[in-house]
Amino acid sequence: MPSVTDRRCAVIGAGVAGLAVAIRLAHAGWAVTVFERGAMAGGKMGELRMDGHRFDRGPTVLTVPHHIDALFTLCGEDPRAHWRHQRLDPGFHYHFEDGTVVRTWADQDALAEEFAARTGTGRDRMLTFLKRSREKLDITQRVFLERSLHVPGNYLNASTLSGLLRFGRIEPLTSMARSNAALLRAPKAAAILNQFASYNGANPYQAPATLNLISYFELALGSFHAEGGMYAVAQALEGLARRQGVRFHFNAPVERIAVERGRATGVVVGGLREGFDAVVSNADVLRTWRDLLKDQPAPRTSLALPRSSSVIVFHWGMRRTHPTLGLHNMFMSDDARREYDRIFRDRTVHDDPSVYVHISSKMNPQDAPGGHENWFTMVSAPNNSGQDWDALVERTRQSVQTKLSRMLGTDIASAITCEAVTDPRTIEALTDSPQGAIYGNSVNGILATLLRHPNFTRRIDNLFFCGGSVHPGASIPLCLFSARITADLVRQRFRA
Ligand SMILES: Cc1cc2nc3c(=O)[nH]c(=O)nc-3n(C[C@H](O)[C@H](O)[C@H](O)COP(=O)(O)OP(=O)(O)OC[C@H]3O[C@@H](n4cnc5c(N)ncnc54)[C@H](O)[C@@H]3O)c2cc1C
Repeated sequence: MPSVTDRRCAVIGAGVAGLAVAIRLAHAGWAVTVFERGAMAGGKMGELRMDGHRFDRGPTVLTVPHHIDALFTLCGEDPRAHWRHQRLDPGFHYHFEDGTVVRTWADQDALAEEFAARTGTGRDRMLTFLKRSREKLDITQRVFLERSLHVPGNYLNASTLSGLLRFGRIEPLTSMARSNAALLRAPKAAAILNQFASYNGANPYQAPATLNLISYFELALGSFHAEGGMYAVAQALEGLARRQGVRFHFNAPVERIAVERGRATGVVVGGLREGFDAVVSNADVLRTWRDLLKDQPAPRTSLALPRSSSVIVFHWGMRRTHPTLGLHNMFMSDDARREYDRIFRDRTVHDDPSVYVHISSKMNPQDAPGGHENWFTMVSAPNNSGQDWDALVERTRQSVQTKLSRMLGTDIASAITCEAVTDPRTIEALTDSPQGAIYGNSVNGILATLLRHPNFTRRIDNLFFCGGSVHPGASIPLCLFSARITADLVRQRFRA
């Protein structure tokens, strides 16, 4: 048997989960090589520069930063020497058509007071919502966020068993929208809390109320700002990986995973095969099976599930500053139910969409020229199933500008100095996510969550999967859980 340091692992993809798994395995003594088809690390957590502005391309909302810090402390480093963050207070500004603005405060009592005063829900109802969401997080964290669902031995410990016994408490059979309407009895409060489903590309009118745990991350544990923007986090993780000895190959698409006698034995890049003891794919799982494992019989259930939704983002340089806006601003649709129907049933974008405006230059002045701002203006969209995206983008640009001009009382179009657009086609082209789906498969049902592809496959030994398209799911926190589960599985498999 080779010693631990002789073990070699290939990681396909330098998304946040690929970086985290590489760091964990390198720290455990593995020789890790990351192959990334793009020119830089981060995957969806990329950045864009245009006319003196800097924009994050993907994630903008940072929660549970201690999970990122944990990678540095694992390696004996001070995270603050490599990246910095601060808690936001207020976190979000929610704008309604009637002029109501609801802010989310870091203090839970202040948050409950704000919701009571501005939406008409009861203060105690809001506190009950937070308590129930906390319980959902506690139960799911034990049962599946922190471990593989697919290793029978994982069910045989006290904390998982106690979580399973309380499974009904996570409301798997009630929709988010129904649960929130019944508890909060205030349409504006319910609308704010329902929209957290979109953090996972789900429809709150179909997705289980279990997903209310998503809002707990932001509303109770806090929303944070990463100094220098989210891409600075990807750069910090790449730096940590390099210091742990991880080797990176950029512009190096893996063409095939080599499989011999039921075992992954290496990867093929540029027509050349390189041997490895283990292979971890951070590429989308559908792509991994369809393109990199063409000759292997693929599992049917988890790959047949519908894909999650996507987004259209307008990256706008703005010639003015807007003092009433914060870092995170959401302009709510007047008819959210119809908005979700348009996305998930009609596979198009609503004429009155909810519009998220993220202005990182509020916190990072260097992200825009003086007196200017950088607007990341995003609406939810269906994934790409062949729609006429040029027409849809054009129509959405008009409706977003009309809505923001109306709600802010200023002409938005005349303030725009430059524009770049990200739509499902762009997301697919940049990160190879089929149909430009942001979150892998859809989680519009509890079964879909449980049927997510595992972090390993019984069909091919020594092949593992991590990232937003597999267990436990998408978003930075879940990708970090995914990386930890996967690194543990690799180490258990090799007892290293
Ligand atoms: C617009 C947008 C907004 C978002 N907002 C948030 C947010 O606010 N907060 C949040 O937590 N999450 C957010 N997300 C989701 C979050 O970004 C993702 O869940 C997460 O970044 C996915 O990381 P990942 O590790 O799964 O891989 P990805 O980021 O998908 O990276 C996979 C990598 O694999 C590479 N790859 C693929 N195939 C190959 C191959 N054959 N060979 C080599 N390399 C390959 C790709 O190029 C890519 O770099 C957002 C996403 C988007 C797109």
